[in-house]
Amino acid sequence: MERNIKCDVAVLGGGAAGVAAALAASKAGAKTVLIERNPYFGGQATNSQVTAYCGFFTRGENYDQVVEGIGGEVLKRLEKYGTNIHPKPSKSTGNVSVSFNPEYVKLVMDEMLKESDVEYYLHAQMYEVVNENGMIKQMKCTDDEGTFTVEAKAFVDASGNANLVHFAGIKTNWGDAEGKVQQSSLPFRIDNIPAREIIKPEIEEALKKAKEAGIPIQKETGLIIKILDKDYGYCTIPSTIVPALDAKTLTETEMNLRGQIHNYVEAFQKYLDGCENLVLSSSGPCVGIREARRIIGEKTLYGEEIITAPKTDDSIARGGWSPEMHKSNTNIKYTHIPDNEYFSIPLGCLKVKDAKNLWAAGRLISTDSLALGSVRVMGTGFATGQAAGVAAALTLDNETYDVKKIQDELVNQGALI
Ligand SMILES: Cc1cc2nc3c(=O)[nH]c(=O)nc-3n(C[C@H](O)[C@H](O)[C@H](O)COP(=O)(O)OP(=O)(O)OC[C@H]3O[C@@H](n4cnc5c(N)ncnc54)[C@H](O)[C@@H]3O)c2cc1C
Repeated sequence: MERNIKCDVAVLGGGAAGVAAALAASKAGAKTVLIERNPYFGGQATNSQVTAYCGFFTRGENYDQVVEGIGGEVLKRLEKYGTNIHPKPSKSTGNVSVSFNPEYVKLVMDEMLKESDVEYYLHAQMYEVVNENGMIKQMKCTDDEGTFTVEAKAFVDASGNANLVHFAGIKTNWGDAEGKVQQSSLPFRIDNIPAREIIKPEIEEALKKAKEAGIPIQKETGLIIKILDKDYGYCTIPSTIVPALDAKTLTETEMNLRGQIHNYVEAFQKYLDGCENLVLSSSGPCVGIREARRIIGEKTLYGEEIITAPKTDDSIARGGWSPEMHKSNTNIKYTHIPDNEYFSIPLGCLKVKDAKNLWAAGRLISTDSLALGSVRVMGTGFATGQAAGVAAALTLDNETYDVKKIQDELVNQGALI
């Protein structure tokens, strides 16, 4: 039996950006469909155990919240399940992020989607896009019963890797000016560790000792995302460059990184204070990709500009996270935005230049490599997702859009622009 789903707005990807896009499009009155290939929503928060929401706040001791709306609602619901959503700045980096147990992200996203009018599908993989002269007509998807189509007037690519744009045959960017991307990492959960924050210098010291003792440690710095006052956390250190997204490359990547995890476990058990009885609980499931394809938008954000915290009239979201670059095995480079400051994200950064009805959200929006080091974080992803959803819902297949109308609806939905 043929299965054809028709809607106003179709969203690909159920991470922070895609869930926000779908909920926002639906709130704006569009019949909305959300497609996700994993068996749960959350994107890298749940599928790669990236267990801290960055980008909700500015830097500084007395920081300000820069993302509200749907992202703000996710935080409030996480708080109901015991998450501390008013954290102190990290002793390691000075940044402010909300650490969580990913099981509650799954629960909160299920709740919010079930309460909405969004039609959502897990276990659904997009494998083909019909693009007629820049007008996207259809996504073809597959599940264990066969194939089905999703036809829409407007589309949002929130797939992280710009898969919708790429499969539509539209050119994308990859990495920096030399085509180099940041490292990707396979986070793993560790239990039976001290309840306090474990700071970067003590991790680096332990890894140095492990390396000297002959344990093959590759990346010598990084973080353990701690759920404060609990005896577990998530280590994001095992890393490598992912040069392409084909199955062969990703198979090698997963096996390489899974192998690395056991070296870090041994290093922590032997050399990290209080971790003698540390237990490895789970890895991944999937490698977390920091940087892959990005769209070419009508506008582009540049890292050198955003660190001066510019504000623009066509802003649809606020970015508060200082660009963070993971390119080396020995340091993580931050380029700081001043304390209590944020930059505007213009609507044009979400609009795919070579398509008429295609918007983008999350880590694939139109930026250079340095600005990506900021906007890719999930707090900002909720904000660009909400904006892309509203833009798609209010524009549908019209070739022109009204920035003011989109901004008004975002404010109406409680977003900070
Ligand atoms: C190791 C690591 C540590 C990080 N640390 C932090 C941190 O501490 N805090 C923070 O905020 N951010 C952090 N980030 C960045 C952040 O995790 C990502 O940039 C963010 O998850 C991007 O959100 P997104 O919604 O754009 O995409 P994703 O979270 O990648 O979600 C995209 C979704 O699209 C789905 N999808 C893709 N293609 C298809 C298809 N063809 N069919 C169906 N579904 C599809 C995927 O399954 C996925 O669920 C980190 C990233 C990494 C890798």
